[in-house]
Amino acid sequence: MGRRRKSRKRVLLKPRKTIPKIFTCPQCGQKAVKVTLRELNELKEKIVLVKCGVCGLEATFKYNSVFQPVDYYHRLVDKYVAGEI
Ligand SMILES: [Zn+2]
Repeated sequence: MGRRRKSRKRVLLKPRKTIPKIFTCPQCGQKAVKVTLRELNELKEKIVLVKCGVCGLEATFKYNSVFQPVDYYHRLVDKYVAGEI
């Protein structure tokens, strides 16, 4: 009868929403592109900064709640391919 207790102790690994996502840079090829959310208090606006920690390639986008970090990354790649950054 004492056996049931054991199974309750199992720890579930919670997926963390705020974990930074790292992507491969289209310019230098390093896995160093981070997507971070920034809040501009004065403007009450949220922006998303996508930046490579190796070569410094970066772009900012307006925060959109339906977007995943990978979506911003793809927009960075699009800009890069288009020669905008
Ligand atoms: Zn880079």
